[in-house]
Formats: sequence, structure tokens, C-alpha cells
Amino acid sequence: MRPKLDDVLDAVQQARFNEKKWVWIEHKQHGYVRAHIVQESDGIIEAEMDNGLVTSNQIYPMNPPKFDMVEDMAELTYLNEPSVIHNLTVRYKADHVYTYSGLFLVAVNPYRKLPIYSDESIQSYRGRRRGEMPPHIYTVADQAYHDMLQDKENQSILITGESGAGKTENTKIVIQYLTSVANTKKDNKLEQQILQANPILEAFGNAQTIRNHNSSRFGKFIRIEFNMQAQISGANIEWYLLEKSRVHQQSSKERNYHIFYQLLNADESIKEELLLGGGRPSDYGYTKDSNLVIEGTDDAEEFKTLMKSLDIMGLEHKEKLDLFRIIAAILHLGNLTVTPDYRGDRADIRDFAAVERVCHLLGIPAQDFKNGLLSPRIKAGRDWVHQSKSPSQVKASLEALAKTLYERNFASLVEQVNYAIDGKKSSDNLGFIGVLDIAGFEIFEVNSFEQLCINYTNEKLQQFFNHNMFVLEQEEYQREKINWDYIDFGLDLQPTIDLIEKTNPIGILSCLEEECVAPRGNDDRFLEKLSKIWDKDEGDSKFKTTRFKDGFVVKHYAGNVEYSTTGWIDKNKDPLNEDITRLLAQSTQRHVAGLFEDYLGDGMAEYKDSKQQQRGLSSTSSVPPPASSSSLTLFKLRKGGGSFRTVGQRHKQQLLSLMNTLYMTHPHFVRCIIPNNRKHSGEIQTKLVLDQLRCNGVLEGIRICRKGFPNRLSFADFRKRYEILCPTILKPNQFIDGRTACQQLLDQMELGPEKYRIGTTKIFFKATVLAELEEVRDRRL
Ligand code: ADP
Ligand code: MG
Repeated sequence: MRPKLDDVLDAVQQARFNEKKWVWIEHKQHGYVRAHIVQESDGIIEAEMDNGLVTSNQIYPMNPPKFDMVEDMAELTYLNEPSVIHNLTVRYKADHVYTYSGLFLVAVNPYRKLPIYSDESIQSYRGRRRGEMPPHIYTVADQAYHDMLQDKENQSILITGESGAGKTENTKIVIQYLTSVANTKKDNKLEQQILQANPILEAFGNAQTIRNHNSSRFGKFIRIEFNMQAQISGANIEWYLLEKSRVHQQSSKERNYHIFYQLLNADESIKEELLLGGGRPSDYGYTKDSNLVIEGTDDAEEFKTLMKSLDIMGLEHKEKLDLFRIIAAILHLGNLTVTPDYRGDRADIRDFAAVERVCHLLGIPAQDFKNGLLSPRIKAGRDWVHQSKSPSQVKASLEALAKTLYERNFASLVEQVNYAIDGKKSSDNLGFIGVLDIAGFEIFEVNSFEQLCINYTNEKLQQFFNHNMFVLEQEEYQREKINWDYIDFGLDLQPTIDLIEKTNPIGILSCLEEECVAPRGNDDRFLEKLSKIWDKDEGDSKFKTTRFKDGFVVKHYAGNVEYSTTGWIDKNKDPLNEDITRLLAQSTQRHVAGLFEDYLGDGMAEYKDSKQQQRGLSSTSSVPPPASSSSLTLFKLRKGGGSFRTVGQRHKQQLLSLMNTLYMTHPHFVRCIIPNNRKHSGEIQTKLVLDQLRCNGVLEGIRICRKGFPNRLSFADFRKRYEILCPTILKPNQFIDGRTACQQLLDQMELGPEKYRIGTTKIFFKATVLAELEEVRDRRL
């Protein structure tokens, strides 16, 4: 038989590779470049690159060409950074955007439509296992589905990455896959609703940023529930950390949330109802300084799509209008002009008609609103007195109001979506698959409270990953009864997590909390207190005060991050003008009152009760009661949970609950990578990708992998492949059991005992050991 052309080419390539000793060398500009060694003495290596000679003391061995484009990077014999990046690059250039790396699926954003998401493609991945088909997010989704059915265990798919890396797109693809393979056929209304949740969330939760034209400004965990027939029985969305500041300020190259522009491009009839007749984004304070249009996006069309999605969700005209009412009110709030009054120090708002517009939309009395804004009541000893505010204070309080309105409206929107997709809680519930779409570690020039919250989340998720990777690995070691000392890699990250979340000694979040409730709490005192407790001159300390005492550095898993503590008390307290929130709680607009019902004072209980009754009677209540608890208990909970009122505490609580859920699932990990900063397809910026691989644990996963025994072969496979190295011991026709044969082979090879472990059916090797054996074998052949 004639050898195939491919085989010949492979052999030629291999032969060329064998002629020289090829390595990777670090390069300032390109990350790593290939070179071959010319000379080696005293650890100094002279090597030849494409464009000349270099000397270096740091080289990385290169994998033979047969490893190019491997589908699972854990199979690389040399598991070093350059080999990983090289593999991802050659795969990306060939449009293979998905690659495994041990327990991770790595997904590089293709920045163009690839023909791999068709219905046929979905069908071809159904019921197929990893290794049977090219790497794909479908494999991960199918594996989760399969494991849930087989093991009757809840599953989770954790998708992280930088902004623009493709998290949300991949989340959509997973959900599309699941709704396609697990549909009920006879009635796919529920599937439709689950799919339509996305455009709704995106209209209110996404915005155009420099990095991403459709950037999610919140995190989410979507749970898809299944019944015993393996069909979808319902879904639920949990959201985290909405970026509120975007509502009142955006950089000139970015936009506010999509919904503002969509609404302003809606039919005039709707706009007129909301006092926006004829208005354009350039007419309103909170949109006019932003980028106004996104190339290739038609806001009017998007609004129509949104309306259709809301229809599918079952929202009535009034309910839709209520959601938009808040958006319109915020636009009008941004147009209130605050000026100094005739005395020059106190604030005034001269245009009362503008105030009336806001108050008409919000269903509150205009004069009370204006008074509450300009001179709110404050407690002085036992008495209440009015305190006049300066123009800048009033402006800040308007912005705070806009943010809160937006966030509470978003919360209500998600609640309404959840009400629609909740499904009938069936008694034959099998389990769920949860998909987490949340931002990865953020390390910017200036890092603030928001970054601390997201990095804290990622520290916990990474700990979860490490713990898991270890557990799965250890289970296999145990099954194979190999000798192995317990290491809990998850514990590596505990000191940093303690620093952030511990209450005793008091960690960052609790310390901030204390300063928020202290009478004269401020940012400086917070930092001082924190430094006193945590800034110790110990080698393994995770905290350090910055040189200029304007913040602190935390040693995160992904690197050291410097946080500036300016404004943290305010960001955490998120202070609201209680005169205004009380007004809103009593709004004649039911939707508005519902958003602020936790601000009804105790004296308002009667009012509240009558409202409850109204709701019970009305079939079109604007905020549907949550499935599990009545609005009343929710109200009590919020009131009772006064200590969770701050942003930090609420996030900590939410994260705790998310982690509890995740620890009860079998997880699957997806790491999304942004290939370049230009939104170009086909282009890899090596440094950018390397940074992400370091940050997101792919490289660290490899490091941990190396502590264990990552490569394994069954006795039979090992014997078949390496018999050639010791032909003397195994005589033809003589029976030796697999284990003994392998032991004899290993003894003959004089492989040190630290390099391998023999299990009950397999041999486990330390990283790179198999590569060495392969080299010896190549030379023999
Ligand atoms: P993230 O959620 O991580 O910030 P997105 O999922 O919003 O990123 O992706 C950003 C943009 O990149 C998308 O709007 C889309 O244009 C492109 N993109 C991401 N993933 C894919 C994909 N699998 N196929 C095609 N385009 C993609
Ligand atoms: Mg996103």
C-alpha cells in the first residue's frame, strides 16, 4: 500500500524538526519566537531565529510538529506558555476557535459568523462525547445535559473572560443548544420565552463600550430546569452588579444603556405618552454627550424587536409602558437644571415645568418633590429639620435617584421575565443546568470598588475551579489506588478571600460597612483602619497600603491589583434622599410605588395593607408576586435585612448564595479569550492573549496539573507503544499480566520512581515524562 500524502508530509516535517533542536525564546515584541539552538554552555544558550542570532538563558522546548493543532492542550508533551499560545494561534488562524485545555474549554472570539452553529451542526453534536467531534461549546452543553440525565445531578457551565471575549454569545449558543435538544415539541412557547429573555435583558442591561458594541453591564446566572422526560420545564435568571453609573455618565466614545436610544427612536405615539414627543438622544442630559449611534445598529428596529420579545413574555401594553415610564423619567431627570438661588449658596431649580414632567411620569406631587430635593429633612437630635443643599449636592442626589430608578426598574424587569419563564413547578423535576456569564478579573489603570467586587467574585470562582479540578483528579487517583498526598489547591486562595470577606479579623467589606454606619465615617478612616489590621510585614501578606496612602494593593490570584479607595463610602452606601424615596413609595403609579415599597415607613403600614389588597384584586399587577413568597414577606425581609442594604454586603450575600448553588452542581468551565483589541477576525495579539491565559487560570491549571500526574496510559497501550524500548524482557508467547509487564518495562527504562505511579489499570506520569519516552522511541524507530 502506498503511504498517504499527508503521512509523507508529516514524516518530512518531523524529519526536518529532528535535524535541529527547536525551542521558543521570549521576545519583547512578539511574546515568543521560534529558534534552534546553535550552542549551549554554562546555561547560556545561543540560538538562531529567522532574523539572526540571540543569546538567552531562558528557553522553552518546542513540541514536535505532530502536536500542531492538538484539540486538547493537556496532551501537549511540553506544557509551557509558548506552546499553549502557539497552539491556540495556529488553530485560530484555521478557524478552530474552540480548544480544550484539560478541564477548560478555551473559546477565542472569531469576530465573524462561522458556519458551525447551524441546526445540522447541533444535530451532529447530539449525544457525542468529547473527542468524537471537534472541540465546541456544543460538546460542553451536551456533556452537561448528558451528565444531568445520567447522574441525576445538577450541572453548571461557568463562562468567564474579559469584556468582548464572547461570554454572552457563548451563553446564548448554550441556551439555544439546550432548547433545541430538549424541546417539548408539542408546545414550544416556553422555549421561545426563554430565548426571548435575552433581547430584553440586553436592551436594558447592555451598552456600547469601546471594547464591545453590545457589552453586558451586569453578570447573570441562568438556570434551565428539566423534568423527568428530559424536557425543559422552566428557567430562572439571577443578576449581579449592574453598572449603575453609566445611567448618568458615559465617555464620549461609549453609550448609555441601549434602551434609552431605542425608546427615543420608537413610534411617536409611545413617546408622546411618555412626554418624549419629538425628542432625540441629543436632547437629553444623560445621553447627549455620549456616542449617539452604533454602526450597523438600527435602534428603531431594535425597539420593535424588544416589543415583540416583551409580547412573547406576556407583558401587556400597560406593563411595557410602565417599564419605559422609568426610562423616560430618568431622561427628564437629566434635564433638570440646578442653579444657585439668589443668595448664591443654596440650590434652586427654576424651571418648574421640567419638575412637573418628571413628577407626572413618576406619579408624585411636584412641589413635595422639589422641596425634598432642595431641602430634605434630616434628624437633628430628636427633631427633624430642613437642611438646604448646595447645587452640587442636589445634582448628586438627582444622579443617585436616576441610578436607583434604573436599577430597581431592571430588577422588576427581570422579575417579570422570571415570572413568565418560571414554568409550572412540576413535581417530576429532574434538575437544572445553570449557565454563569460573568466578567473575569479586571485590572485597570485605576481600580475602584466595582473592580474589587468583580475580582472578589473571580477569586471565589477560581477557588471553586481549583477545588474541583483537584477533587476530580483525586477521585481518579483513588479509584486507581495510587500513592498520593492530599493537597487542597482550593486553599491556596483562601487568604485573599479572607482578607475581603472575613468579619473577624475584620476584612475589607466589613470594615467598609462599619465606616458606612459610623457617624463621621470617611474614605481615609476606612483605609487607615484597614491598614492597621492587614498591612503586616509578613512575606505571605495579601494586603499592602499604597506608597502614597491613597489606597491598597491586594494580591489576587490573577496578579497584584492596586485599588484607589476614593469614594468607597458613597459607592457602598449608595445614599438616597429618603424624602424622595418615601414620595416614590406612595406614588399613584403602581409600578413606581412597587419599586420603592421597602421605603414605606412604619406609619405607612396601613397604606401598604390597602395596597396589598388592591394588588390581590387586580389581575394586572405591574410586578407579579414572586413565586415563593408574597410581596409582604419580601417587604419584611428587605426591612429586616437592613444590614444588607449596602452594595458590598448585598453582593457578598448574593455571591455566597451563588457559590452554594455552584458547589451543589457538577461544573463545566469555559474561558473566553479576546484575540485583539480591534474586533478583527483572524488576528491574534500574542501578549494580549497571554495576559488573559495567565489571568483566567488556564496556565495556572496547567501548573497545578504538573503537580499531579497529568498523563496516563492503560497498561495495554503503554506496553504496545514502548515495548520497542526494551525488546529483551518480553519474550514471544510468554504470558505476563499487564501490570507486571509494565513494571518490568519501567524498571528497564530506569525511570525514576518519582516520575510515575502505577494504578490498578493505568500508569500515571508526571508532565513531560511521556515526551521524553517519545523522543527515545523516535530515535529507535
Ligand atoms: P462579552 O459578553 O464577553 O463581553 P460578547 O459575547 O458580547 O462578549 O461578544 C462581543 C462580540 O464579539 C459580539 O457582539 C460578536 O460580534 C462577537 N462574537 C463573540 N462571540 C462570537 C461567536 N461565537 N461568533 C461570532 N461572533 C462572536
Ligand atoms: Mg457580555
